[in-house]
Amino acid sequence: MNSSSGIIDLIFPEKCPFCGRMKGRVKGPADVLCDRCSNELFIYDKADELPHEALEKVLRLYVPLRYSGAAKKAMLRYKFGQEQWLYRPFSQIMHIFLEANDGYSDIDVITCVPVSAKRFAQRGYDQSRLIARAISGLSGKPFRDLLRRNDTGWRNIATSTENFAQRASERRFSASRDDFCLFGTRILLVDDIFTTGSTLNECAGILLEHGALYVNAACMMSGRQDIYAFGREESA
Ligand SMILES: [Zn+2]
Repeated sequence: MNSSSGIIDLIFPEKCPFCGRMKGRVKGPADVLCDRCSNELFIYDKADELPHEALEKVLRLYVPLRYSGAAKKAMLRYKFGQEQWLYRPFSQIMHIFLEANDGYSDIDVITCVPVSAKRFAQRGYDQSRLIARAISGLSGKPFRDLLRRNDTGWRNIATSTENFAQRASERRFSASRDDFCLFGTRILLVDDIFTTGSTLNECAGILLEHGALYVNAACMMSGRQDIYAFGREESA
């Protein structure tokens, strides 16, 4: 039922993908959401500085939506309700937000925080990858799978030895290929929800180790009250 209603929404897009209300004559940003959701959820003009310690490996963070209300419900439907089609409005919103905030300029490659193979098998899709690939199509910036999520190991780091290779092998994430070189590459890293920043930091760190010039991050939404948030510039 869910997938068929999603298809109907794509064919007859006058319903808001978040709340299901019919859209009025005055459409929301780029026809994606209804007026009410647009007004409640977009946080375009609230650009605060990020707490610096939150994301030391990430240069700039772009977060178009607050993790609350209709946006939160839509994200839960997307991640856990098998409503894969929601990647489309999500990616349109992200694309509008990035364009409005100069988020694509100088970016060479778009990549994503991947789900584990186990999660992929359960869900049948990788939610952040779908959004990243879609904004790649919308922006013309190439998409590459640069990261891999390891299914096991993260909890053992605290008790592991000091041996770097062993610790590296126990990371939650690793490069998708050990030998790739990202020298000088400017990367946009896409994820679904921003919480502590540890996932983004870990992924960005791997990309920097492989030579990336810098990593910006784009997360669909965040529930944090201390960021609204994009535009943290690198400090001297
Ligand atoms: Zn709506």
